[in-house]
Amino acid sequence: MTARILDGKALGTKLRARLGARIAGLGFKPGLRVVRVGEDPASGVYVRNKDRAALEAGFDSATLHLPEATSEAMLLAEIARLNADPAVDGILVQLPLPGHIRAEAAIAAVDPAKDVDGFHPLNAGRLAAGQKGLVPCTPRGVMHLLAEAGVVLPGARALVLGRSQIVGRPMAQLLLGADCTVTIAHSRTRDLPGECRRAEILIAAAGRAEMVRGDWISPGAVVIDVGINRLADGRLGGDVAFQEVVVHAAAISPVPGGVGPMTIACLLENTLEAAVARRGLVAGWRKAPR
Ligand code: NAD
Repeated sequence: MTARILDGKALGTKLRARLGARIAGLGFKPGLRVVRVGEDPASGVYVRNKDRAALEAGFDSATLHLPEATSEAMLLAEIARLNADPAVDGILVQLPLPGHIRAEAAIAAVDPAKDVDGFHPLNAGRLAAGQKGLVPCTPRGVMHLLAEAGVVLPGARALVLGRSQIVGRPMAQLLLGADCTVTIAHSRTRDLPGECRRAEILIAAAGRAEMVRGDWISPGAVVIDVGINRLADGRLGGDVAFQEVVVHAAAISPVPGGVGPMTIACLLENTLEAAVARRGLVAGWRKAPR
């Protein structure tokens, strides 16, 4: 068996085009502001990609780049200003922040209605409670990839490898909301290969290069690789040993070109959703996960 490759680049392009068409019919440009503090080099690339994708799809997008020396109080004041600006529908505080600023304080300062990263505790709580809210972009992108793969979710055994606030936990909540039987594995899990072998859907988000091996995969499983790791030879790679797994799985997302482009597309999806909900245009545009 050779797995079907789930092309996140193509799917992300399709989703962004759909969002662009929807914006064209709105009569206004949803506003996205990305707040970057300091000079983390990877953040520079991410922020530029987000800005470009947003502008191309017809959003009013801009990056607020604050100096490394910005104090926490100054950052919170900027966030408060964006919260109060009626033209701003979505606010994203790019992580990591410099060490003297508490990420939790910045995340909690964002108006939950504009929290397009879905990291605010209120949105995290809503997701856990099965209520409508803004959902973190990466797990949301994974759900799109699973839909594209034609996976029947109700009753499926899903394993999420990783329990972070930004990927693993919300991922598990979304799968649970879609009626999967969900296991969350993490750094203290005993017999990780055995847990993985039971999974029909495996979402790898541990941040460990190629840790998921071919003989961890149940034949015909669908494997989504969230990891982004710099490999010894300088290339980017995922958490899954692609060449080993591709011969066992039914479908697999590559790195790069899998989850990454879907994350950006879902940031835009969240921004449009926030704009529509804030402005009272279409109530309940998206159904809440159960
Ligand atoms: P994190 O470091 O916050 O969390 C990693 C999780 O993996 C932890 O819960 C930990 O318990 C678990 N883990 C680590 N080592 C393990 C091991 N040896 N065995 C079992 N579990 C282990 O990372 P994160 O922010 O959740 O990101 C995970 C990966 O996804 C990273 O590579 C990150 O770069 C990538 N990522 C990609 C996107 C994207 O858009 N594609 C977005 C966010 C994160």
